[in-house]
Amino acid sequence: MEKHGRESESLEKGGMKVELWGTRGSCPAPFPNRMGYGGNTSCISASWEEGLAVFDGGTGILALGQQMEREGRWDVPIHIFIGHLHLDHITGLILFPGMFRKEARIHLYGPSPDGESFQTRLNKVLGPPYWPVSVSQVPARVVWHDGADGDSWELPGGALVRAMASNHPNGGLLYRLEKDGRSMVYGMDCELGEENRSEYWERYKDFARDCDLLLFDAPYTREEYPCFRGFGHSFWEQGLEMAGACRARRLCICHHNWDREDEALKKAEMELTQRLEGAGRIGPGGMKPGEMKSGELKPGGKVWFAKEGDWMIL
Ligand SMILES: [Zn+2]
Ligand SMILES: [Zn+2]
Repeated sequence: MEKHGRESESLEKGGMKVELWGTRGSCPAPFPNRMGYGGNTSCISASWEEGLAVFDGGTGILALGQQMEREGRWDVPIHIFIGHLHLDHITGLILFPGMFRKEARIHLYGPSPDGESFQTRLNKVLGPPYWPVSVSQVPARVVWHDGADGDSWELPGGALVRAMASNHPNGGLLYRLEKDGRSMVYGMDCELGEENRSEYWERYKDFARDCDLLLFDAPYTREEYPCFRGFGHSFWEQGLEMAGACRARRLCICHHNWDREDEALKKAEMELTQRLEGAGRIGPGGMKPGEMKSGELKPGGKVWFAKEGDWMIL
């Protein structure tokens, strides 16, 4: 199976191709025993016949840019949604090859709390004296969009992206993309907290309701979580809870800790699968335990731990 090629037939029928370019959180993990799940930080893309949406600009966005170079795809407007400004979500952005193509049209979206524009906020971090140039100086045509909880934007081909506030230090946004009845939720970085059914939990559930794919931020196990309370992330088991509650059709656990080795991730992935199979609580319309087999986790399966290079058609 071709790993990154466009499935043009499915896309012509209104499908979306979701590709995982960066699956790590906090910082890149370029170590041999992490390469199975990938070493790049957050970046997911969704492409369809008329459009391309990118979620976050971690180091994974560089591989997407290289792919676009190979395909010569600079004629399609690129809509990049940044969840928040923590470094693991933006470090690749300034080096994204599209930034240096005059013909590229890039729309940049991001949170703008307290009346400060997203452009001002981003340039404070990605610009002198921390980097020699800022996004405002690159050759590409960049259009800036301020985002806040409840905002939505129309994209080419009838696609729609909606934003919801994340629960994360310094704030941020979660995004939901919808196109021709298919949908994905990009849920980096967000701490649901231990009190399930909290007001925020209910809001998240409504935001993610009936999505085809829930990309869930969960670098911890339940046992580890108490040491990291307040850091702004959730744990794996909460991904299962939420996917069941919001009736997501697929659950992908993302934002793996940089120090989590492949073996540990593989083991956790198997445990999570077995728990899903044993749990009758994954509700009607959503994931059903019988639809998934242990050891057969893969893109297109029902629940899996994000691996760099994974892709699927929604
Ligand atoms: Zn992060
Ligand atoms: Zn963060």
